[in-house]
Amino acid sequence: MFSSLLIANRGEIACRIVRTARRLGIRTIAVATEADRTWLHWQLADEAVFIGEGPAADSYLNIEKIIDAARQTGAEAVHPGYGFLAENAEFAGACAAAGLVFVGPPAEAIAAMGSKARAKELMIAAGVPVVPGYHGAKQAQNVLKSKAQDVGFPLLIKATAGGGGRGLRHVERDEDFLAALTSAQREAKNSFGDERVLLEKFVTNPRHIEIQVFADDHGNAVHLYERECSVQRRHQKVIEEAPAPGMLDAMRKKMGEAAIKAVLAVGYRGAGTVEFIADGSRDLSPDRFYFMEMNTRLQVEHPVTEAITGLDLVEWQLRIAADETLPLNQDAIPRNGWGVEGRIYAEDARGGFAPTSGAFVLARFWEAPGVRVDAGIADNSVVGPHYDAMLAKVIAHGTDRSQALDRLARGLKKTRIAGPQTNLRFLQAIIAHPDFQAGGVDTGFIDRHIETLTATSGDVWLAAPAIAARLARQAETGADQASGAWRQTAGFEIGGLTRQTALDVLIDGVPATAQMRSPRRPSIPAMPPIPTSSGRATRPLCLPTAARRASISPIRAIAP
Ligand code: ADP
Ligand code: ADP
Ligand code: MG
Repeated sequence: MFSSLLIANRGEIACRIVRTARRLGIRTIAVATEADRTWLHWQLADEAVFIGEGPAADSYLNIEKIIDAARQTGAEAVHPGYGFLAENAEFAGACAAAGLVFVGPPAEAIAAMGSKARAKELMIAAGVPVVPGYHGAKQAQNVLKSKAQDVGFPLLIKATAGGGGRGLRHVERDEDFLAALTSAQREAKNSFGDERVLLEKFVTNPRHIEIQVFADDHGNAVHLYERECSVQRRHQKVIEEAPAPGMLDAMRKKMGEAAIKAVLAVGYRGAGTVEFIADGSRDLSPDRFYFMEMNTRLQVEHPVTEAITGLDLVEWQLRIAADETLPLNQDAIPRNGWGVEGRIYAEDARGGFAPTSGAFVLARFWEAPGVRVDAGIADNSVVGPHYDAMLAKVIAHGTDRSQALDRLARGLKKTRIAGPQTNLRFLQAIIAHPDFQAGGVDTGFIDRHIETLTATSGDVWLAAPAIAARLARQAETGADQASGAWRQTAGFEIGGLTRQTALDVLIDGVPATAQMRSPRRPSIPAMPPIPTSSGRATRPLCLPTAARRASISPIRAIAP
């Protein structure tokens, strides 16, 4: 095993990788930007290297800077996390050329699966079922239009180099095809520098079910069962679970075998995910699933697989990268109970899921037996415009689905976030929805129920400590930051708290008026109960120690 690891990523996944590496006695090196000074990965790793101001192209996506950071710190290996350079064959090659172990598949396997068109060719050759469509080389608009008519509507246009739902267009009717094609090509060109597309029949009531795979350099490959990821908005996952509701042993076996064929077809090594689309218009059936794409990296939702197998997938990645054999044979891989994950995003669910930004005065998560949190932020973290809006994941495990869902609901309920709007309430609404509770929803679930899922429900907790901390900070710095989410409407003195203060605030995006009365002792933390705008008194919350600290902990950094 190598003794040092550079993590070429940020946020929750960087923190999560640090945790396993540290347990294995590996020195960890983070990279971070000026924009990430308030994020946890900067502080958690043994060392950190500053790689830029903020823009991804000039930092997390800059191969030269990452390799330099590894050289500078004497790192032996590089973990790319997910996103950014994780599926960049050139980066895998650059690591190898610099004598660094790349924790991921060989560059050739990344390249082979990096094109959805080529991946489909490979799968057809390996005898894996694929979605019918056109994935040929001819890319003239008139040719694509006639191919689309052959495929039939509704269909999907996909960027062959695509990922993260970008360059993807759902087309219902022939007459809308050309406009959708033009916009898909434009987005593909902007996002991936490659405007090629493929066409795919839109599977009705699609369910996204994927298989976690692992292969080593000694000819072994196994799968770690399936994950259901059908709860999606804008073709991006929001809640994932394992197993898939209604999954049959025969189908699991067949999907697992197909996934392993995919892995063997490209000379794979390390962790990967083979994504399938299943027809959810009827019960799941072993003859109604199709290969969609393979992601040649660790997946955001890998913790639900960790929940049901009790395995550490990052540890497996590191061991395989260090040339060890797979830790377990297929028959020895455990599968216990149910795992489910909710992704917490800084976004406005009611406003078309637009990302939000700003400072989180308070960001507290709650862990308990069966409830795990992978978070990238803490109190005072600032979310900017440069990167993905995911803040944290809450992962629950239970003996069955209902216990897992209850635990996830509780974990979300206990989450205390004050600052820019998040999707916390939206996640809670999904979990409580009867269709989701029944299990096996298709990818249209969120769109179908968007009104119900984004309706304001229940009471708003007024984050008294957060407000107090914010005001304290303002008083200290003398800065007038009372804008956006935090508008002060009445005088407020910190130290000698005034008798009564009203604040217009947005809490998790919901406007409210906070009536704050001073406690008998002027000293924080004791805060009295606060009536909410709906008139109901809420329970007092104590001002957390960390929220009182105006600044974040010192940063260890090696300046380039
Ligand atoms: P990306 O690389 O952006 O993840 P995918 O090919 O994995 O692109 O597709 C993203 C999502 O789009 C899937 O998770 C699924 O919800 C939906 N989707 C993809 N292909 C189909 C299809 N043929 N029919 C129905 N839905 C699909
Ligand atoms: P209960 O007493 O029923 O366990 P909780 O105190 O856990 O209730 O929280 C009630 C609800 O208020 C939950 O949905 C939780 O997510 C939400 N909530 C709690 N604190 C905040 C906060 N600071 N900002 C926004 N929402 C909050
Ligand atoms: Mg995908």
